[in-house]
Amino acid sequence: MTLPSPARQKTPYDGLATQGTLTLVELDLCVLESKNTGQSIEHVLSAHYELKPEQLGACLSAYFGAPYLGFNSTLAHSEVLHGQLKREFVEAQGWIPLYESPSGLRVLCLDPEAVRGLRMVPQAFARIQKFNYAVTTQREFQQTLDQLYGVAALGGTIDKLLADLDGIQNHERDETLLASAAADNELVKFVNKVIADAYYQKASDIHIEPMPGKQKTGIRLRIDGTLQSFIEVPAQFRQAMVTRLKIMCDLDIAERRKPQDGKIQFKKYGALDIELRVATIPSAGGVEDVVLRILPSGEPIALDKLGLSALTMARTVKTIEKPYGLFYVCGPTGSGKTTTMHSILKHLNTPDRKIWTVEDPVEITQKGLRQVQINRKASIDFALIMRAFLRADPDIIMVGESRDKETVALGVEASLTGHLVFSTLHTNSAPESVTRLLDMGMDPFNFADALLGILAQRLAKKLCACKVAYTPDADELNRFVAEYSDELRNTPAWKLDAPGEAEQLIARWQAAYGEAGQIRFYHRTGCAQCNHTGYKGRMGLHELLVATDEIKQLIQQRARVTDIFSAAVAGGMVTLKMDGMEKVLQGLTDLKTVRMVCIK
Ligand SMILES: [Zn+2]
Repeated sequence: MTLPSPARQKTPYDGLATQGTLTLVELDLCVLESKNTGQSIEHVLSAHYELKPEQLGACLSAYFGAPYLGFNSTLAHSEVLHGQLKREFVEAQGWIPLYESPSGLRVLCLDPEAVRGLRMVPQAFARIQKFNYAVTTQREFQQTLDQLYGVAALGGTIDKLLADLDGIQNHERDETLLASAAADNELVKFVNKVIADAYYQKASDIHIEPMPGKQKTGIRLRIDGTLQSFIEVPAQFRQAMVTRLKIMCDLDIAERRKPQDGKIQFKKYGALDIELRVATIPSAGGVEDVVLRILPSGEPIALDKLGLSALTMARTVKTIEKPYGLFYVCGPTGSGKTTTMHSILKHLNTPDRKIWTVEDPVEITQKGLRQVQINRKASIDFALIMRAFLRADPDIIMVGESRDKETVALGVEASLTGHLVFSTLHTNSAPESVTRLLDMGMDPFNFADALLGILAQRLAKKLCACKVAYTPDADELNRFVAEYSDELRNTPAWKLDAPGEAEQLIARWQAAYGEAGQIRFYHRTGCAQCNHTGYKGRMGLHELLVATDEIKQLIQQRARVTDIFSAAVAGGMVTLKMDGMEKVLQGLTDLKTVRMVCIK
């Protein structure tokens, strides 16, 4: 006789099995491990499987019947709400108030059911009538607490820390006094807090802009590509603050007339493991500007998570999987070239391939790659390292940047001798890159033989989830069609004047992106999640030129950019702007953004 097996106990993570991410058996093994080790199920799941917070969030949301809210760094100013609550208390209770909205006070919970049952929240906020409970993962709950309460010694809010600076005197002329002011505990805390806040708000750069005389020093942050005012610091602290930053990256504090550059390993000063590149520049009025770049921390993104359209993705994969040849990623500074380059390498990074990279600096690290950083001061440049690579049995070589003739020539040579070579170029469009490289003095025949393809890229702001959909009228849709088609004007691919062409385009879009056959456009609005800008995060727009036989022939003939462009679009190349407009149709971004980043 067999005993009936005990009924399986439901868990908030059962959705993972329903979605097919895990099998029920795999899930149950994790639950068992959690029971045995005393670690949470989320912890065990994350240790064994690569799960995104959103995947876990979707399960929790379905289980608790509450919306899921991920970690959001822009909620940094909710101290008004959580000010009275101690961290230990909210950590034990598993809830934290975030912000007030017309639909009530948003409360972030680990277990909304339990929190609702406790009636603790309405007691703590007697003046508030409505509450709005959202669920989040344990990891994101911790992140939220870390940010709200400051990591370790970064306690207090930025405004509070600024107020505490009062005791510091202005010692602009005296190095010793200045060094001592820069070591002031409150100032150290303030500078750390600026960096930590910038990091949590996902800023890429911090700009410190002192003014002469009694004017305040402005601090601005670049977030998603746009500068935003962060805080203003009274004039008397400006030199102490700059000195503190110089000390953090071992720069000469007495040197105030020459630009200097250095690096901050922030984990030495705060609990955050981030690295910053620092540049000081003496500016008018005898002051010094400081610009800090927060270096992206380390992990490559999977190629299929870069936001390449299905067509461009398929063509890219086909091109980069060739055994040898030359492939470039091009775009202006800050267009995400390095990220894309590493995603491509991640795709090709298998134990049977030797991959050498030379970069300036090494920003993203990957297991399996052998990565070398150049050192201009010691004359260790791209070309020198490239020549060394060629003697070091490579399969794939990645060169951070091809700026000079020698580096490009070495890349061509390496690819013609059976290696796969990747690099970036500082050019605007894929067809333009070809002529730029030929102008550098490449042999057109060798270059045509070597080239596999060129991917041009831009970053565009994404619309926040607070966007509002509407159905465009015929007039707006026709203007959209005209602008899209205009990309192909003067090429054989331009057929807008052909009868039925516009209708066909609209029909394709309706089928691909429409809701119940209707094309939808989106207005941006603004909410607490996006700092009332209407945008949140960024995504790539892409244009891939594949070096087909026809393109190779044009390169050999040193054809004009327009002819290469015509041949490329006739062969199916989608331009940056067309790619962007398709992403507008998907509601990912808006036309204004696409126009702005695709200016020629
Ligand atoms: Zn929003």
